Amino acid sequence: MRTIVLALLLVAACGPTTSTSTSSSTSSVEAQTAAQIQPTWDAAKAQAVLERTQRLHLAPSLSGLTAGERTAVTELIAAGERMNRMYMAQRHPDALRAADWIAAHPDRAAERDLFRMNIGPIATTLDNTREAFLSVPAETPARNMYPQGTTKERMDAFLAAHPNRRADILDDRTVVWEATDANRQRALSTLDLHLVLDALHPGLREKLRTDQTYLAVPYSVAFAEDILFIVEKLNAAAAAVESGDPAFARYLRLRGRDLLADDYEGGDAAWVRGHFTGNLNAQIGAYETYDDALYGVKTFFSLSLLQRDTARSRELQSALQDIQLVEDALPYQNHREVRSDIPVGVYNIIADFGQARGTNTATILPNEAYLARQYGRTILMRGNILLNNDIFQETHRAFAAAVIDAQGNDLTAEGGFYRTLWHEIGHYLGVDLTANGRDLDVALEDTADLLEEMKADLVSLTSARILNQRGKLTAAQLRSIYASGIRRVLQKNRPRREQPYQTMQLIQWNWFLDKGALKFENGRLRIDYAAYPAAVESLLREVLTIQRNGNRTAANAFVDRWTTWRPELHEVIAQRMRDSERTRFSLVTYEALDGRQRR
Ligand SMILES: [Zn+2]
Repeated sequence: MRTIVLALLLVAACGPTTSTSTSSSTSSVEAQTAAQIQPTWDAAKAQAVLERTQRLHLAPSLSGLTAGERTAVTELIAAGERMNRMYMAQRHPDALRAADWIAAHPDRAAERDLFRMNIGPIATTLDNTREAFLSVPAETPARNMYPQGTTKERMDAFLAAHPNRRADILDDRTVVWEATDANRQRALSTLDLHLVLDALHPGLREKLRTDQTYLAVPYSVAFAEDILFIVEKLNAAAAAVESGDPAFARYLRLRGRDLLADDYEGGDAAWVRGHFTGNLNAQIGAYETYDDALYGVKTFFSLSLLQRDTARSRELQSALQDIQLVEDALPYQNHREVRSDIPVGVYNIIADFGQARGTNTATILPNEAYLARQYGRTILMRGNILLNNDIFQETHRAFAAAVIDAQGNDLTAEGGFYRTLWHEIGHYLGVDLTANGRDLDVALEDTADLLEEMKADLVSLTSARILNQRGKLTAAQLRSIYASGIRRVLQKNRPRREQPYQTMQLIQWNWFLDKGALKFENGRLRIDYAAYPAAVESLLREVLTIQRNGNRTAANAFVDRWTTWRPELHEVIAQRMRDSERTRFSLVTYEALDGRQRR
């Protein structure tokens, strides 16, 4: 009995498993420690952040769903809520304890809102720092995905001495544990208990027995109880939509198996290429690596539950018939043949969980180059964010502050929607390999992302011009897309070089000034729409040339040359935009998650 109690305590101490059902024996310990949690910000500090927070409540009408789809929504929400807990556990070792404290203190509205906004006990402050607002340890780059206290120096040294361990330890879907006897035992007993996991990870048992210093534990093993719960929910959702939308049902079942195997190829193929005929879609699993501050390789859990906007999705599919024309119009040689059956749809968010929660405007997945090459990528346009009026008003205030009065109303939400759509499609077009056949990210390394994003921005503006020429966009629509292209590149703060999006936006801003598409007049900017298309084309030609040459030094020289920030120009505009700001953060709640989140 004594050893069993000890083992349970160790499980509680080292662990990402978020299930509450297995931890009943440790609940008194948890309750004790939870009681020690306290708010650490005073009311004024919390209020300062909350006053700058925009509250969005997403409540798409679900009346068009079939009975089976409604059942699937319930099952997928249950899966999503569990993924949300897994995401919290991935990001901070005390996040679930903090979540319990929040749940036990419904009177603490400020802490509850901060916790929801930040999905955990660490908040972004008005000074753009990250701070704990509850009495938990400060955030570390290791988050909860590497042993506490792991530094990059220490891990680099270990990997240099053990290069054969690199692939497992830096795998996108493993948690790194210290190779203690207790951790070893915990992982092995999970395999004993769930033979399906053992069967789907050949060779893992031996590694868990013999690896030294660190164990690379697949997510399905580290989060076994949670994953099994989610698989059950995915299968139940699949059964509910089987008769109405068999391709979606097959995807859900495959994704369940993917989660058990930590290999998403099957589900990704079904997701990207499947012809879903119903009203639902869902992004499910661990994809994005933004939260891994140590190596940027660990993926974090998310689930987005989406309702298709059928009319808008159809409209987009028909616009795609012109995609080859856009490709052929891009200023470079060696055009490729582009498929016109790119899977793109417009959706309204029913609910987002984990890493996907927030105000993302579009998703393009999967990320892995080999999967994208084999199956393509699915593009999910998030309509009730992209066209949300409150979000638009905030971005419009900044635009109107930056440009001359006569052009302040050129920007529309619709313009931003189309610009974003063609940005995502832009990733399918243009140069995808260097002249000597190397992958762009291999050749260009840290500059690859920046150039790829800038290419997509410029392809988007090019396609708007072509669709206008073909009579598919009106002059007013084209102007609003161009205005959105300008709003996109104006910055409220001087970007740091390690911020790829902001850096490439500043490059465009400077290029447009240089080519006369933007003029600085009496502290404001005037857009010259006549000079705009040529400015876009010349910059796109540069970008495609740099990508095709694949020379990282030349790429960096280009970036350095075009990222100047002049106090008497950029800073003047930036200050005007900052002064127009009413909200900086957002707190999104969902009708589908019932009234609890509405208060
Ligand atoms: Zn992009």
